[in-house]
Amino acid sequence: MDPTQTRPLASVAGLSVRDAERLLVETGPNRIAVRSRLSVLSSVLGQLRDPLVVVLLAACALTLATKDFTDAAVIALVVVLNSAIGVVQELRADRAITALGEMIAPEVRVRRGNVECSVPPDELVPGDVVLLGEGDVVPADCELVEGTSVLVDESALTGESVAVAKVPAQLGTGDWLLSGTAVVRGRGVAVVVQTGAASSLGRVAALMDVGRGLTPLQVRLAELGRWLAWLAVLLSAVVLVQGVLGGRPITQMLVTAVSLAVAAVPESLPAVVTLALALGSRRMASRRAIVRRLPAVETLGSVSVLATDKTGTLTQAHMVIEELWTPGGRVCLEDVAAQELDRTAPDVIDLLRAGLLCNDARLGGRVAEGAVQGTGDPTEVAFLVAAARVGLDPGATAAEYPRVGETPFDSASRTMTTAHRVPGSGTIRTLVVTKGAVEVLERRFGRDDPASRDIWRQAREHAEELAALGFRVLAVTSGECASEEWAQADQQLLGLVAMSDPVKPAARATIDRCRAAGIVPILITGDHPATAVAVALRTGILDVDRADDLTSVVTGHDLATGRVPDLTEPRVFARMSPEQKLDVIEAWQRRGAVIAMTGDGVNDGPALRAADVGIAMGGEGADVARQVADIVLATDDMDGVVEAIRLGRATYANIRKVLRYLISTNASETIAMLGAALVGGEPLTPMQLLWLNLATDALPAIALGLEPPEPDVLDRPPHDPKAPILAASDFRRVLREGSVMGVAALIGYFSLGGGAGGARASTVTFHGLTCGQLLHSLSCRSELRGLSCEIGRPPNSKLYGAVGATLLLQAGVQLFPLARRLLGLSPLGAGDLLRIGAIALGSSLANDIIGRIADREEAPLRGNGESHVA
Ligand code: ADP
Ligand code: MG
Repeated sequence: MDPTQTRPLASVAGLSVRDAERLLVETGPNRIAVRSRLSVLSSVLGQLRDPLVVVLLAACALTLATKDFTDAAVIALVVVLNSAIGVVQELRADRAITALGEMIAPEVRVRRGNVECSVPPDELVPGDVVLLGEGDVVPADCELVEGTSVLVDESALTGESVAVAKVPAQLGTGDWLLSGTAVVRGRGVAVVVQTGAASSLGRVAALMDVGRGLTPLQVRLAELGRWLAWLAVLLSAVVLVQGVLGGRPITQMLVTAVSLAVAAVPESLPAVVTLALALGSRRMASRRAIVRRLPAVETLGSVSVLATDKTGTLTQAHMVIEELWTPGGRVCLEDVAAQELDRTAPDVIDLLRAGLLCNDARLGGRVAEGAVQGTGDPTEVAFLVAAARVGLDPGATAAEYPRVGETPFDSASRTMTTAHRVPGSGTIRTLVVTKGAVEVLERRFGRDDPASRDIWRQAREHAEELAALGFRVLAVTSGECASEEWAQADQQLLGLVAMSDPVKPAARATIDRCRAAGIVPILITGDHPATAVAVALRTGILDVDRADDLTSVVTGHDLATGRVPDLTEPRVFARMSPEQKLDVIEAWQRRGAVIAMTGDGVNDGPALRAADVGIAMGGEGADVARQVADIVLATDDMDGVVEAIRLGRATYANIRKVLRYLISTNASETIAMLGAALVGGEPLTPMQLLWLNLATDALPAIALGLEPPEPDVLDRPPHDPKAPILAASDFRRVLREGSVMGVAALIGYFSLGGGAGGARASTVTFHGLTCGQLLHSLSCRSELRGLSCEIGRPPNSKLYGAVGATLLLQAGVQLFPLARRLLGLSPLGAGDLLRIGAIALGSSLANDIIGRIADREEAPLRGNGESHVA
């Protein structure tokens, strides 16, 4: 079958499902750059490029040269195990990121076999008929064959920010819609011409690009790691020189120094952190918050301002028209519905008919009391429901007045206009209807005569009154003209409608959680200021009993006329244009705040991108909003945002825990080796050091990174994103803890005679230090100091499992003769076991007590600083 022949047909019914499947095989999937998966091989090679591994391999060669085959075997084993752990961690993190990308894959509406359905964009084939609407991203290069006022933002391809108008025409002559561009206005039907690599740009590539670059935190940690590595090398050099001066063979000392350097460097840090971030995002995904960029997980933890929109986020977006106002008076819709249609005032019917015509929503389901369902803009559904209640039939009315033109709703103009052919008129007459914000319509249609001025003044006053009650108020105007030049037609006010949009029951509690977490909530809406204030008061964003007063409410007009010197002052912004949202975000950022913003609209893209964390709301939101957002919430609940912030903070806290654990345990090894070297002893053989480092750094560190959020993460102020991840006080603590463990190990070592104690002394030190470090991992679970905090804390089964598994491994090397020989361990008696227990428990107890004393001296540092927003 020649595809060019099927295409004209396709514009009517679309391809048949069978043809689409066949073409998909021929042309291949509509995909451009699918993010390549990290291969095992490249991950292994990456490990081998690690300088530490290189050093270890050198040590291995050295031991081989000196015919010390046992040591060579152990070092080789360490390299293999170390790299294997690294590779597994890296691959797991990579898979987690890829899975995130797959979760946000969008759907495209197509017509196939004359049935509308949704397909993943990669299944599009040339000839497919796609249905595009405002906010959709064009999924492949296509040609517009039907449509009204289609405006496309091509900046993704051309960099040109002015939207381009597209004109539909017969297939072969219509304007092209390019893949990856966004429909910012209008609706249309288009036929796919080119897909995949042949199209201008892969939308899939853009949408699925979750990004693999290092996060700022990872960069900072890499820096910290380098710094620690130098320190380790320096200290190892000291041990080397000490040993050689003490008359020990240089090759033996070299191996010792290399092992110490390897042990002292927290080499698993980057992988553990990536894993913590990836798993943090996975936790968020299970709460229906999908992270599109990994750094957002850490940024979320430091969010200090949350800018939220109103409709659907704070309110239910389930709108019901409750009151109408016409120049003839005020009408409660309850009463109207109870009456017969012919007894209803004609002006009310006109108003509702107009609202029904200037409407893109559809009613679905039953029109029964309270239980009417509809699809489309909830504001417009409310109009349909109200019209149906007074007996107007939406379908029939729309058919009677066929639409001949439209200017779709747009949040900058805050109005929508449609034009309709008037039935039964000999000459062509056109009815023009506009609905939208009262003051905008007054400016557009108010005339300079006393009657018009009076009517609009009344309308404005009523709108004010209704809005103050929390209603969303829209004005409706209409006019007739003889020609088709409807856009210039004069229109008269038909009346106002007031619709309720109840605040979500959970919204207040969510806002309270925000405040408790030191996050400033602000409301930015396109709605009327009085409505905004009513919602802000009900949700607690404004609390007039407290510091907030009503002067902290401003409008976009105030901003435009420069009446707001400090944009971080107001808590409620009404009648805001999308560009003004940007100004607010930038003002907060200049003050050092980290701002998260929710958005769903076509025009929210720039603000979502500019915000530190852009959050696209729910399934209702526009593709374009989702495309630029850092996080996509599958539900429209604000609570999801706060939950994501909680998990972000927990992830950050977990990374701190891992850091504290790794640095303190590595310090303990270094201190033990260094301390013994000063008086001429070697408490751990190189092999024991390497093993110890491997055993305690791997599993417990990973498990700490997966620690569930502490219960009070949301009761602390956000951490300052510019402050170092470990403050000076953290370093003091970590060093103290490491020293206590190291000294405890040394006491055990010298109590058995030190160097004169032979294998037995080092075996006891080896096990004692390992067990001490494992116990210490439990006390790293919390910002609070000390192991005793473990009592009464909810268990972390992963960490317990990791500690248990490592203990078993430790028992294994002691019991398994070959391992014992490789590690140079001697058999243990009951007294030795007691000594091991004493080293482990003793160091933990000492750390607990010393920690408490230190705590009293310097107030406990929770998080790592005060809120950074003044
Ligand atoms: P928000 O989402 O912040 O509640 P919107 O940007 O949706 O605010 O709406 C702002 C204003 O635009 C509303 O107060 C109303 O006057 C007008 N408006 C909203 N939806 C429509 C619509 N479908 N048709 C015409 N006007 C609308
Ligand atoms: Mg809206």
